Amino acid sequence: MLTSLFLLSALFSTAWSCPKHDNYQSHPHLGRRQIRVDKGREPKDWNYDVSADWATINPEYVLCQSGTHQSPINIAQQDLSTLHKPNFEGYQSVKIPGNFFNWQFAPAWTPHHPEGDVTGLPSFNFDGEEVFNIGWHIHAPSEHLIDGKRSRAEIHMVHVTAEEHEAAVIGIRLAVGPQESAFIKQLGPMIHYNDTAQLEGLEVNLRLAIDEVGGVEEFWTYKGSLTTPPCSEGLRWFLPKQELIVSEQQMVEILAASRFSHRVEQPVWLHDINL
Ligand SMILES: [Zn+2]
Repeated sequence: MLTSLFLLSALFSTAWSCPKHDNYQSHPHLGRRQIRVDKGREPKDWNYDVSADWATINPEYVLCQSGTHQSPINIAQQDLSTLHKPNFEGYQSVKIPGNFFNWQFAPAWTPHHPEGDVTGLPSFNFDGEEVFNIGWHIHAPSEHLIDGKRSRAEIHMVHVTAEEHEAAVIGIRLAVGPQESAFIKQLGPMIHYNDTAQLEGLEVNLRLAIDEVGGVEEFWTYKGSLTTPPCSEGLRWFLPKQELIVSEQQMVEILAASRFSHRVEQPVWLHDINL
């Protein structure tokens, strides 16, 4: 009896607290289209004002100063990579639900997945290893430079191994062109850097971003690091040659939701560009 009461009440409370009804709030920018939950954000003890000196903020950030293959860098050479070729067969062209938010500097999104199991997420292979997309975030302007040129923004698509070690980032530079980006369009209105709320369950087709830069057929690659503290090393970066083309309106909306968020250029040392 007690059990069935519990069950009943659990069933009802699930129905009553169904976020599709209860948390559906009107919002000046987001409207009523999604579930919106305020989760706050992790406070950060660093900022982009002093990105040349992050190691002085916290002893755990020592690699930001002493690392041997820090990111981002300038790619001075025109030659593209013929090694470490990524295979995107596992990057399903399907919409998957996730949380859309602003990481305090620019829009970001992370996919829903069972705790401790990323293996259902879109994945690609390189050097015999499979890595899974655990989300993306934007920097504005771009962090990487190509032949000294900085783009207006850059998307970082972050990939981990099945054991959830950060293993590869695809750094996709954005540029204004003659057509809209379907990848950006599916996001709807951007979330501003002052907005701490998350949209839960926003469905995103990650494959569109890969396709919109020519399937990453042409790319530079190197051994690098996280571009934010603690600047951990040992990641492989893939930088597609093609920029992801967005409309002028899309770029304006991305930039309006973003703050200055590129780390200072790091000297090339043990990065093994294209090697
Ligand atoms: Zn990043």
